[in-house]
Amino acid sequence: MNLKRLELLGFKSFAKKTVLDFESSITSIVGPNGSGKSNVAEAFRWALGEQSLKSLRGKRGEDLIFNGSAGHPKLNHASVEVVFDNKQRQFALDFDEVAVSRHIYRDGTNEYFINGTKVRLKDVIELLSAVSLGVSSHHIISQGEADRILNANMYERREMIEDALGLKVFQYKKEESEKKLEKTRENIKEVESLRREIAPHLRFLRKQIEQVKKAEEMRAELVAIYKEYFKREENYLTQFKQLLIKEKGDPETKLQTIETEISRLSAILSSANTADPSKISRLRELDSNIFEIRNKKNNLEREIGKLDALIEIKSVSDDKGRNDRNIRVNEKGERICLYCAQVVPRVVDEVREDELRQAREKEVSEIRIRRDEVEKMIHSLHESEARVLAEMDTVRAGIESKKDEFRDSERMLYELRAEKSNLMSLLNSARTKEEKFNMEEGAFKMEQTEAVVLAGREAVNFRDFIIPAGTENEPRVIQEERRRKIERIKIRLEDMGNSGEDVLKEYNETEERDRFLEKEIADLMSSAEGLESLMVELSEKVNTEFKKGVEKINKQFQEYFSLMFGGGSAELVLVLPMKKKSAEEVALGVSIPDEDENKEEGVDINVNLPRKKIKGLQMLSGGERALTSIALLFAVSQVNPPPFLILDETDAALDESNSKKYGDMIENLSKISQLIVVTHNRETMSRAGILYGVTMGGDGVSRLLSIKFDEAVRIAK
Ligand code: ATP
Repeated sequence: MNLKRLELLGFKSFAKKTVLDFESSITSIVGPNGSGKSNVAEAFRWALGEQSLKSLRGKRGEDLIFNGSAGHPKLNHASVEVVFDNKQRQFALDFDEVAVSRHIYRDGTNEYFINGTKVRLKDVIELLSAVSLGVSSHHIISQGEADRILNANMYERREMIEDALGLKVFQYKKEESEKKLEKTRENIKEVESLRREIAPHLRFLRKQIEQVKKAEEMRAELVAIYKEYFKREENYLTQFKQLLIKEKGDPETKLQTIETEISRLSAILSSANTADPSKISRLRELDSNIFEIRNKKNNLEREIGKLDALIEIKSVSDDKGRNDRNIRVNEKGERICLYCAQVVPRVVDEVREDELRQAREKEVSEIRIRRDEVEKMIHSLHESEARVLAEMDTVRAGIESKKDEFRDSERMLYELRAEKSNLMSLLNSARTKEEKFNMEEGAFKMEQTEAVVLAGREAVNFRDFIIPAGTENEPRVIQEERRRKIERIKIRLEDMGNSGEDVLKEYNETEERDRFLEKEIADLMSSAEGLESLMVELSEKVNTEFKKGVEKINKQFQEYFSLMFGGGSAELVLVLPMKKKSAEEVALGVSIPDEDENKEEGVDINVNLPRKKIKGLQMLSGGERALTSIALLFAVSQVNPPPFLILDETDAALDESNSKKYGDMIENLSKISQLIVVTHNRETMSRAGILYGVTMGGDGVSRLLSIKFDEAVRIAK
């Protein structure tokens, strides 16, 4: 037994908890009109997910909740639980029992539970569709709706049959796929529009990037030039420095020596200026000595002369002496001896001359003696003079030699000063060069800092740069040209601005976003394709299964139909939807099938009653309609048996003989499906294993009792 139990609480007229056990394959519910039998059938329908209030004979959700009566207050909540046996695991749940329940509150809130766990309606529908208990409720035939399938149009019929064949689950999947596909297409549109939105920005960034790339190339070129420039500049500065060291170093050393020499010489000169005064005064002393000596000597020599003259005068004869040129006659006629001054009477007279001779001879001898003395004195003075002169020479030589030394020093000093000034000018030129060097070295360092900022660290990794052979000693102008080129690139780079990194970052991000969106579109497209092909597959599956099912149903339908009517024929036919008739077609009385592939075929029912020329459902009587519907319902149920079938007064229109046939058929059918039949028909009741009587007292509350057949017959009336 699949269906085990139904529990109602507060549902419609069942104000109190009411439990129906379905331990028999056929359960009959009997009772007087208006006692609540149909409410039981509706309780099933509702609990299993029915959404149409109309089919539950209500307008609002709260119409399903016990509304109160004279003796009973109205309730705020209704619930119905259907319990299935799941020992065979027909439901995909690992429980021996599966209880599906639905609750409703006055505010219209619905709640669904499976085995006590709150679930969504979708979960209930999915669970039930797996056992062919679809929402179309083909297994619950409400009162007066036995010929619903005959009244329905060909598409509704198709739906009912699909549901009965258990194909609804595929249709759900198809619908779900369609919804997903629609959502996916919307997503594709959204993503495409996002992509379109960023496209102009991306184009703009791409252009920017070209600029950035150009700048990158220029930066790479700059790095290359820088490396060579720096390498050469370093070499140049190294050579420059060495030259400078030499140019500055040599004169500096020399200058030092010269300075020492100059100060030495200056010392000498300043000492020479303060020459030894003793020598000068000595010289002066000796000079006055010599003057004195020479004076004395002159006097003495003059005395010798005088003495010699005296001697001569005194020694020559008077005659001779008279004639002597040394005698002259004065104005008185006197002869005057020139040499006899000192004897100062000098008048020569003859008488006295002889005497005089003697005197003179004595005198001469005395004079000679004196002369000798004077001679000796002169000699001695000679010696003194020579001595003094010799000393003077010595002293003068001493003074002279000092003067030479002074002159040499002066000359040397002059020369050294000339050299010093020469060296100074060399040094000055070296210092000017040094200043130039310092400036160039400073510029070199600054240039490196600038290079790092502008072209990155790589620009200063120039140590490994190899200067092309043969160009080591290129003219400096080439390096200057290189420098100008660097300047030109720098200016262009500065003009381009320094936003490269930002642009690149933004470009990469936007590009990545674009690629992401592109991929997203591709993914969505492929999932759309997947969904489309799934839908095609599902359609094909439904179509094939449906056609197979219809074939099987037709076999059973024919059997039940001829059993019911004692012959005749009945079948389901698949028809393509017709195009709207044109005026011409209407006039000709023809219609053309719509061969649109997407349109599914509908279902028509062809019947041929035995011994009657009746074709077309609309020509059947009420009973014939009921029988045809029952035959079809049973045929469908035979092909794909539902776990249970609820037949609410389906037998109402049958006469006695047909009631018997109906009874046979439900007995037959009960072998494969559980049946719950709401009936007033005695024949039907007689086939039931369990009979429930439903009564309603004056309090408007339905009550349920398990009864025996006889009682049932009574109650049913
Ligand atoms: P019949 O044999 O004539 O078909 P039935 O036994 O099938 O009758 P139902 O149609 O099941 O009778 O029951 C209808 C009864 O349920 C009515 O008396 C109606 O007043 C009662 N009923 C319906 N909804 C509610 C409600 N919300 N509260 C109380 N009673 C309700």
